[in-house]
Amino acid sequence: MIRADLHIHSCLSPCGDLEMGPSGVIEQALKNNLTHIALADHNTTRNCEAFAVCAKKEGLGFIPGIEVTTAEEAHIVCYFNSLKKAFVFGSIIEDSLFKVPLNPEKMGEQIVINGDEEIIGEVDFYLSVASAFSVDIVVEKAMELGGFAIPAHVDKPVFSILTQLGFLPELPFSAIEFSSGFVRKNGCNHGKIDKNMQVVTSSDSHYLHTVGSAGFEIDTDSDDLFGILKELQNKKSDKIKCFAKEVRE
Ligand SMILES: [Zn+2]
Ligand SMILES: [Zn+2]
Repeated sequence: MIRADLHIHSCLSPCGDLEMGPSGVIEQALKNNLTHIALADHNTTRNCEAFAVCAKKEGLGFIPGIEVTTAEEAHIVCYFNSLKKAFVFGSIIEDSLFKVPLNPEKMGEQIVINGDEEIIGEVDFYLSVASAFSVDIVVEKAMELGGFAIPAHVDKPVFSILTQLGFLPELPFSAIEFSSGFVRKNGCNHGKIDKNMQVVTSSDSHYLHTVGSAGFEIDTDSDDLFGILKELQNKKSDKIKCFAKEVRE
């Protein structure tokens, strides 16, 4: 059985709590019986290595990821099967951002850490801005590196592909992500989106106490979560079930 929360922010996301380092996140993930997590910081993959190192020590599956803000200001989460590919993609996205100098007091801190959880730097330009790449280019570049893409929190009134584009484009997405709030109310269904696509959810955690509170389970003997999702492109699996617990915000 796989139990995964694939949308978690670290202390590198300006809106992420400074406690969002690997040991705290992983402890919380294990407490919630997760088998896999993924990091999806805004427009960067620089903290993926620290999380990969720590997750491996604890026997927790880890997928390096990123939450890209496209030129249309839609959030798309992309995942990779190696740190190297995630770094390449992260650099491409960072290079494509409009550079606004970071003002930590107004915007939040953006801390880069290593596997020993030591601070090794910070990103001095604001990461929560739009990339110059449109949705289709982001998906294409992720696929070229062997990754896959999922539109994030499509039910939300901001930064969702539906609010920004007005429709779900015909692109090779592996699933569509609904917010945990939507899934708590409506279950693992499509709402108004008429698409033959897999629905997933996640905690979209910015704080430790929500890590693992939402995600999905897959009834399988395999632990190759990346492979299963990569295969899913525009298809559904009857083995995937979303979960979303009530948590304080
Ligand atoms: Zn988002
Ligand atoms: Zn997010």
